[in-house]
Amino acid sequence: MESSAKKRIYLSSPTMHGDEQRFVAEAFDTNWVAPLGPNVNNFETEVAAYTHCGYAAALSAGTAAIHLGLKLLGVGQGDVVFVSSLTFSASCNPIVYEKAVPVFIDSEPDTWNMSPQALEKAFEKYPNPKAVVVVHLYGTPAKLDEIIQICEKHNVPILEDAAESLGSTYRGKQTGTFGRIGVYSFNGNKIITTSGGGMLVSGEEALVREARELSTQARDPARHYQHSRIGYNYRMSNVVAGIGRGQLMHLDEHLRLKRAIYKRYQEAFADIAEITMNPLNPRGDANNWLSCMTIREGCEVTPDMVMDALEAENIESRPIWKPMHLQPVFAACDFLNHNEGPLSVSEDIFNRGVCLPSDIKNTDADMDQVIGIVRRLFHK
Ligand SMILES: *Cc1c(COP(=O)(O)O)cnc(C)c1O
Repeated sequence: MESSAKKRIYLSSPTMHGDEQRFVAEAFDTNWVAPLGPNVNNFETEVAAYTHCGYAAALSAGTAAIHLGLKLLGVGQGDVVFVSSLTFSASCNPIVYEKAVPVFIDSEPDTWNMSPQALEKAFEKYPNPKAVVVVHLYGTPAKLDEIIQICEKHNVPILEDAAESLGSTYRGKQTGTFGRIGVYSFNGNKIITTSGGGMLVSGEEALVREARELSTQARDPARHYQHSRIGYNYRMSNVVAGIGRGQLMHLDEHLRLKRAIYKRYQEAFADIAEITMNPLNPRGDANNWLSCMTIREGCEVTPDMVMDALEAENIESRPIWKPMHLQPVFAACDFLNHNEGPLSVSEDIFNRGVCLPSDIKNTDADMDQVIGIVRRLFHK
């Protein structure tokens, strides 16, 4: 009985506004349904204008953008690439596509992102990595000053995985625009979505032009089909880009709503000493893509209890990303710990954290319900 079923409260689901359909309809009306076309070009220009990234290439996924980004930085067989451990697997899978070797870097506790101290340790052990992949987890900017300084000292390029942080700023500048290459994702759960898609951005036009070529099967400029390199089918379609253009018009609104959700949780749990919200970076403004909480060590309430209590009311929540250095598939890879002891910062966050419903369609009543369930677990 559909009508009596309780409405599900989501972690982060797509929010459409109608403008998306206008651009998609335009693509149909003009028969620009095939790959490429005006929506793709305009979406790139509009993202570039919003982020001040310079140049942008619209691709089929954020993962595809990371893959091409690594290739553009010359990552190949046997190369070492440093990458944040506390992230989604798409940050590091493309390293393995290129038969390169991921070396995982722990988080620092202040922003949950790549630890500059652990990064220093990594450079001592592996002096010549080909690239450093820095993630802005849940939309909180990493400690970019320190990370950039270390990478510049060693003359190693940064690939910024800003898949979760579109709209976040650091010292007033958009995340994704600090590295030699930046990556955004428009996957269904991200702050804006094209159903699936991604963007590779750079201040260097030549790199972005190269990304466009590689993403369209690397055709040489000849009348016949001629190829001097291996290419990919990674380009965004003109229909999908239409969704993106409509979504981008509402990014500022999504940012306001995401930030309000975080603030609401923060205020609602302020009197519970056992709960700490995920950290922000005082040097920037997070997009607050997901609001997360951690539970103090030794508390009788566990993350599983929080997730079970929410799920019992048809409310979606999720564990923190399980660190990559703890994943079976990456068991053979090296990991540099921020701490001296055996427990890493990233594992500790994973053990004690929960991602809370952060869907911008959540009503005040939805938020009150979620907050009430969590508070009751802590006898409040
Ligand atoms: C979502 C995500 C990606 C991958 O983006 P897709 O568009 O889903 O391929 C990469 N890195 C991080 C940190 C992500 O959260």
